[in-house]
Amino acid sequence: MPELLPKNTWLADPALRSLLTRWLAPAAFDRAEPLLAEMGRAAACELLSWGDACERQPASLRQFDGWGNRIDEVVYPEAWRQIAGVAARSGLVALAYEPESLNSFGADARLIQAALCYLFAPSTATYLCPVAMTDGAARILAGPIGPAHEVFGHLVSRNPQTAWTSGQWMTERQGGSDVGRNTVVARQDGDRWRLYGEKFFCSNIGCEVALALARPEGAQAGTRGLALFLVPRERADGTKNPYRIDRLKDKLGTRAMATGEVTLEGAEAQLLGDPGRGFSQMTAMLNITRLHNAITAAALMRRAWMLAAAYAEQREAFGRTLAQHPLHQQVLDGMQGEADGALYLTMRMAQLLGRIDCGSATAHEEALFRLGITLTKLYTAKQAVAVVSEAIECFGGQGYMEDAGLPRLLRDAQVLPIWEGTTNVLSLDALRVLAKSDTLDAVAAELERLQALDRAAALDLAREASSGGVESAARRIAYALAESWTGGLLHEAGFSGPRVTHRLPGSALPPR
Ligand SMILES: Cc1cc2nc3c(=O)[nH]c(=O)nc-3n(C[C@H](O)[C@H](O)[C@H](O)COP(=O)(O)OP(=O)(O)OC[C@H]3O[C@@H](n4cnc5c(N)ncnc54)[C@H](O)[C@@H]3O)c2cc1C
Repeated sequence: MPELLPKNTWLADPALRSLLTRWLAPAAFDRAEPLLAEMGRAAACELLSWGDACERQPASLRQFDGWGNRIDEVVYPEAWRQIAGVAARSGLVALAYEPESLNSFGADARLIQAALCYLFAPSTATYLCPVAMTDGAARILAGPIGPAHEVFGHLVSRNPQTAWTSGQWMTERQGGSDVGRNTVVARQDGDRWRLYGEKFFCSNIGCEVALALARPEGAQAGTRGLALFLVPRERADGTKNPYRIDRLKDKLGTRAMATGEVTLEGAEAQLLGDPGRGFSQMTAMLNITRLHNAITAAALMRRAWMLAAAYAEQREAFGRTLAQHPLHQQVLDGMQGEADGALYLTMRMAQLLGRIDCGSATAHEEALFRLGITLTKLYTAKQAVAVVSEAIECFGGQGYMEDAGLPRLLRDAQVLPIWEGTTNVLSLDALRVLAKSDTLDAVAAELERLQALDRAAALDLAREASSGGVESAARRIAYALAESWTGGLLHEAGFSGPRVTHRLPGSALPPR
């Protein structure tokens, strides 16, 4: 609904502006502001129309050329390439990896990157998914493997002609959460490896490279036997690497972003790092993609609220605008509170990650991020589905209509609790992290610093968990911590009381 959207989503987002004003040094804010203003303008203008065009004409798969040769080419609309160009030129990946001499943001680079992605995401037909996976892959290649890796240069390029995107191929038919059951095999062939088997969910399947989990022949069962490999789409001689795209998935949402099923038929691959460390490298990659998941969740909530709030000023019922009905306004306030909370929690993670990237994080901050990124992903994803669903209801019957543009937001929100780890899987992960000695101290210090209102109750639950919490309480514990942390961040930022504690009335929150 472009007519309801403000002309610049950065200028129309006081919560984001006030967060960055407070969290960035004035000089860094001044340098970042023109970038944010330009992204906010584009998000309400050309990005929005390109995003719509991608939704109307999703990518398709051309499996054979005219002579019957297998080509497996993913055909994207021109608008997808335009969006990709903006992502590269704006440095949505690059910002986090450029030396300070290039973008001068230092430890704040992750925060500014997150803010740009947040403005970009809701207009761009889930293109932030490729950005997220590319960021995750760059993170792996920037590590001990070395930024000298040729592929790294492509992943962090700001030039659309040379910029590449990455996929992450973990999930197989028999298990996504339980990757220890993976069966794709890696065989050594001279100085390279070849992969054999099937990957069941491969998003951004048109990617130039993918990072794939596979089990070297003879390696032990379970996650310890998994290694991480780089799989290029083309071999060094320009020929197609032997993997087949069997089909594109027919999905509820993320429709413009092609997700494929793949059969690896001896695809050439390069081993990344130690063969037994594939799973822990995957975790490092997931920390990045989970942050992008939370950014998308926060951004979809903000977009849904912006549209619903603007509509409430125009639509009349019973002689008044919807906004003048106290009950409707209360619903809108609840949505805004959820969007503000998700923004603050997510940006806190981006801030911590920036410090970790620069080596300036304390041990407490590292522990805080490890727990926090899990809580933030699971919590914001669920809230996004509830808030976007509420926004549809705010439009009455028209909200349910495809041409209003709102159903797409709900479809795209619905994937957020599933990929990058489901709510249960992440809640259990949070329990495991809480059992580590320094995590509890770190989160207690954070909630104390923020003077979070319900910190005592949340920390009691967390203490219980750290001494071996029962699995069935995992969601309740994760939610209590995430809510307390969110409330604390809003409280510290000076948001008014009711908003801090406000819950969406009647929203479809999961059982605690
Ligand atoms: C649109 C889309 C795109 C995707 N893209 C990619 C991609 O690019 N790369 C990739 O690798 N994967 C991708 N995935 C796969 C996704 O990551 C997995 O679907 C997800 O991790 C869940 O795995 P699963 O489907 O095997 O479900 P399962 O693991 O079978 O889970 C089913 C249910 O059981 C619950 N459950 C599982 N284990 C436990 C437990 N121990 N305790 C309690 N409950 C449990 C889960 O919470 C869930 O509700 C994509 C998925 C979708 C929908």
